[in-house]
Amino acid sequence: MSQTSDHPKWQPDSISSVEKRVNEIDYDFSKFTVQDFTKWVAAQTGRIIFLEKCEELKYPTGFWFLSDEGAHVFYSAHLNQILETITILHELMHIFLGHETKYISAQQSPLLLLEECLVGASTRNPLERNGEDNEAENAALLLLRRIEASQTNSMSDVLNFMDI
Ligand SMILES: [Zn+2]
Repeated sequence: MSQTSDHPKWQPDSISSVEKRVNEIDYDFSKFTVQDFTKWVAAQTGRIIFLEKCEELKYPTGFWFLSDEGAHVFYSAHLNQILETITILHELMHIFLGHETKYISAQQSPLLLLEECLVGASTRNPLERNGEDNEAENAALLLLRRIEASQTNSMSDVLNFMDI
């Protein structure tokens, strides 16, 4: 009997290729820190990556854009350590996976982009993430599992507690 549509895939195809790429990441997660992993992504992608903690940002918890200088990750200053890590990993995975984003020239202010982001967030249904957001989120969660698997310290306990 041929395959029917009775059993539609519940995940888009892209998830398995993202999973493959994350599993193939050749990084020593036992020494994971956000700064160190950011340097690794920068080396892999040939981009300078700037991490900016942002007081004005609450939701979305983070966003990224490109400029002539490199890739910029803005993240909220109002997150606990785990959510901050997940947010930064999510944005780093956009960069790692070669996703598209806004380009801001040196003359434009990132604050304008932040404003646009906030307006967008207030009118966007959070259930309607785009495909690249889903990929980045899945990649970030897969990374957390790899970090957890490589560590025996308290971060692992926190991740267990969160049932990630
Ligand atoms: Zn995203």
